[in-house]
Amino acid sequence: MNNLTTPGKIPSDLVADWHTLHRVFIRPEDEKSRQTLIKYMEQILFGLHDFLNTHVGVTEAIPLAALAQSFTDTTINREPEKKLADVIQDIINQIAPRAVNVASPYFIGHMTSAIPFFMVHLKAIAAALNQNLIKLETSKVLSVLEKQVLAKIHRMIYSNAQTFYDIHVQNANTCLGLFTNGGTTANITALWVARNRCLPATAEFSGVEQDGMAAAMTAHDLEQLVVLVSERGHYSLKKAGGVLGIGNKNVIAVKVNKHQQIDMAELTRQVEASAQNKKIRIAAIVGIAGATETGTIDPLPEMARLCRTHGIHFHVDAAWGGPVMLSDKYAGLLDGISEADSVTIDCHKQFYMPMSAGMVFFKDPTALDRIIYHAGYVNRKGSVDLGIKTLEGSREASSLILDSALKIMGSQGYALMIEHGIETARLFAEKIRNRDRFQLVTEPVLNILTYRAVPPALNQLLEAAVTPARRQAVDTCLDRINTDLQRIQREAGKSFVSRTCLKIHPDDAHTPVVLRSVIMNPYTDGRVLDQILDEQETILQSPEILQHQKIGFMAPI
Ligand SMILES: *Cc1c(COP(=O)(O)O)cnc(C)c1O
Repeated sequence: MNNLTTPGKIPSDLVADWHTLHRVFIRPEDEKSRQTLIKYMEQILFGLHDFLNTHVGVTEAIPLAALAQSFTDTTINREPEKKLADVIQDIINQIAPRAVNVASPYFIGHMTSAIPFFMVHLKAIAAALNQNLIKLETSKVLSVLEKQVLAKIHRMIYSNAQTFYDIHVQNANTCLGLFTNGGTTANITALWVARNRCLPATAEFSGVEQDGMAAAMTAHDLEQLVVLVSERGHYSLKKAGGVLGIGNKNVIAVKVNKHQQIDMAELTRQVEASAQNKKIRIAAIVGIAGATETGTIDPLPEMARLCRTHGIHFHVDAAWGGPVMLSDKYAGLLDGISEADSVTIDCHKQFYMPMSAGMVFFKDPTALDRIIYHAGYVNRKGSVDLGIKTLEGSREASSLILDSALKIMGSQGYALMIEHGIETARLFAEKIRNRDRFQLVTEPVLNILTYRAVPPALNQLLEAAVTPARRQAVDTCLDRINTDLQRIQREAGKSFVSRTCLKIHPDDAHTPVVLRSVIMNPYTDGRVLDQILDEQETILQSPEILQHQKIGFMAPI
């Protein structure tokens, strides 16, 4: 570990001079250095992957605090410390084993997972080309390739007529969507457009983008601008409220029904109330297609109808669930998404791309005109530069990776992965139901479910607890059990589920701790899931956990 960060003795042949600097930029000068480079690339492209396959552990037993002690050197060496070969060796030997093996089939806790092998190679090609999609002058063919792949996904969502795509696929004046850094910036972009759309220019006001929020509120005689989304909304929407000057308190969480979907009666009530109150305007309503915590999907057709009736921008956050549309079997789960004014889809989630890329799409190909920015040296008026309508500036060619992946996988290849995830999650739910030490909290609609450990003795107490106060007493005890269970399993390093807090009983203020499982690795199967539950049952028998259970018995209920 120490040789990574301790300056130590620097070998005399490691110098930063003009001659060596030149070598870093040009192609390998002779056969010998060519061979060396190829060897390094093999280490990276194949060695790293073999490594991931053989080390199943999520993390090693070294605590983060101990690791942090090896990373406290805050100086930059004047002279080079290491050759490329040694740096790569260090990464393989020292860094990779202490990183998280998200590729393990036992890693079923987060939305980051194994990626198809070829993704690493495609990513390397994108880096080698080093195109910048901000403008044509640094990307040329990649700019038109990007417009084509965006049109393909737009078509997946909206299924417009061939003539629509003929007009827009390479139209320099219109834009069907954008690549972003991820779902967060995709959501911010969608709400940015929605905000500008609902605070347009008037006779003495040039629009919110130019004059700012204070002037916009005055010009439109408003006191409050709001965004409505269910309690399950991703916190990036709150960030959007912050950066757009809407205020994150004005990103209002509408309560959910027992299926974790936005409560339509409550949403309708809020929309109608604000229609009465001329001082409040709704910038957007957000439907969730695959909630981060539960994988659940809002009633998109009903939400779309409500938005249409009231002329409100309808955004669908399908960062997680978007690619489900590629499965004929399950595409129906996202019915209504084609009514959305804008849609977020992440590439680094169920498109199985490496970190990090997302996309946002607009039904109206001129919607992005509301956020056009020009600069004298790039993105001049009338140019086809893709950077004119993006939140991000410089951007890598993520489109090349997605385009290639779609060719390699076909929609059917993606469909197989999506279907495996959903069906394996259903199998997992069945296994959880069949074990008397667990309670399934949310059914998997997609490939995400939540559950918690409820030891039989506490289950009896829970069933007997009829008031919120009594339930909370048992839940508090269960929270300790589940928090420790998740931690102990994670620290053991064999498997990983995540945890969150979810309201289980609609009358309770308390939101108990639940375990959360995301199944997207094609190697995660029934046998793996049984092993994960077996391990949890074993942990439940450990003295540390049994102790919490005793406290539970003594809880005043
Ligand atoms: C992951 C996620 C986001 C945020 O995406 P990032 O790529 O992490 O920025 C937004 N919404 C939903 C529903 C998500 O699952």
